Amino acid sequence: MSATALELAHKIRSKEVSALEVMETALERIQNTDARIGAFLSLTDDALSRARAVDAALARGETLPPLAGVPIALKDNLNFVGSLTTAGSKMLERYRSPYNATVVGRALAAGLIPIGKTNLDEFAMGSTTENSAFQKTHNPWDTTRVPGGTSGGSAAAVASGMVPLALGTDTGGSVRQPAALCGILGFKPTYGRISRYGVIATASSLDQVGGMARSTADLAALLDAISGHDPLDSTSLEAKPQFTVALNTSVSGMRFAYIKEALGAGNSSGVALALERVRVVLEGLGATFSEVSLPSLAYNIAAYYIINTAEISSNLARYDGMVYSHRSPAPDFNSSMSQSRGEGFGLEAKRRILMGTYALSSGYYDAFYSKALKVRRLIAQDFARAFETFDVLVTPTSPSAAWKFGQFSNDPLAMYMMDVDTVSLNLAGLPGLSIPAGFELQEGKTLPIGIQFIAPLLQDERLFSVAQAFETATSSEFLKIAP
Ligand code: GLN
Repeated sequence: MSATALELAHKIRSKEVSALEVMETALERIQNTDARIGAFLSLTDDALSRARAVDAALARGETLPPLAGVPIALKDNLNFVGSLTTAGSKMLERYRSPYNATVVGRALAAGLIPIGKTNLDEFAMGSTTENSAFQKTHNPWDTTRVPGGTSGGSAAAVASGMVPLALGTDTGGSVRQPAALCGILGFKPTYGRISRYGVIATASSLDQVGGMARSTADLAALLDAISGHDPLDSTSLEAKPQFTVALNTSVSGMRFAYIKEALGAGNSSGVALALERVRVVLEGLGATFSEVSLPSLAYNIAAYYIINTAEISSNLARYDGMVYSHRSPAPDFNSSMSQSRGEGFGLEAKRRILMGTYALSSGYYDAFYSKALKVRRLIAQDFARAFETFDVLVTPTSPSAAWKFGQFSNDPLAMYMMDVDTVSLNLAGLPGLSIPAGFELQEGKTLPIGIQFIAPLLQDERLFSVAQAFETATSSEFLKIAP
């Protein structure tokens, strides 16, 4: 399915193709491709009947919502009524959503049709999707490599042309990084701009829903549909952003700066080239480029993994097999609870619960958790200072292209370090957009490279002006469907 979401919506509305045909084509593509990729954990029962309903509404002359009939993939930590919502964990293996997350309800209202639920690292902890309790997801550009994570299933589904759009969640990079490793766009909003209601919580002060697409205009249309205030999420902000409107704003005169701390020797040569390429292209459009230092970023991984695990230890306490989730039968309360948690959680979840509980425990709270919160504040202040002089900051999304399965599986610290470019945005609440900006050849395979653009708080839309300008100036050269 090479057409974009907006092209599909247009073709359906003008009756060039029916919504049913679009859905059948997408399902066929999944049938033919997903055995190799492993993006989906489950497919939706009623996608075809929803598509028929779109065609029927059109036949009756009704005005269709903007994205009517377009298939979308949902990360399996988003509640979609009636669907299995596993969060990639044995804990929730048989859990069926009794309600819709706000983002899912809004996607439906915009006419989008969820086609299936995508694979993720258990409870969105990881950087490769290898921590899923159920299956491996392969990078469509080279199936011996990871798709990134934790929204690896969503990214692989979009990158391989199974769907034009997907939703994911981003706690420390989980939308932007798999988007980068799979060669598509991935966006995380300012904290509070997209509702978290109905999203299975990982670390609540960091979690945001984000979107993935193969064109800037598609991503903007998706975000216009799902963003905005939600009374059901107490952290939701009032003002509604306008993404599509921003596509036509010129970048001429825009002041860009690379973050110095992200330019280190740790980046692959393909990443360094892509960083250079975005500068050449955007300067050609009248933007300026400089460099700025944010010294506190040296501590971002440490601060993130203390705050992330602390919140996880608290959020995951509810999975004890008592009210719901996996339950192990045992003669008494204590052994039932410990057995249920022992069997239901995978290794990484256990590691984080232990680390987080430790960081919060009396005696260590001051040394770890409260210190991490101070670092978090310093990072936010460093960003605020940089944005006094610059409009957009630039970093790689990941220090390298996609890596091989197993490369960091036995070295959690090395795996955590791969998040060095993304987690600071979650700590500071800032919006970030990863766009494909290059390719790197490894072992005869072409691997995509993503570059991350960062805007000040509540200036999310600016990133879409940048992405659209880059996409147009490069004739969508980096927005290819994986071979
Ligand atoms: N890789 C990061 C982590 O493991 C981010 C995950 C995410 O954004 N959900 O926590």
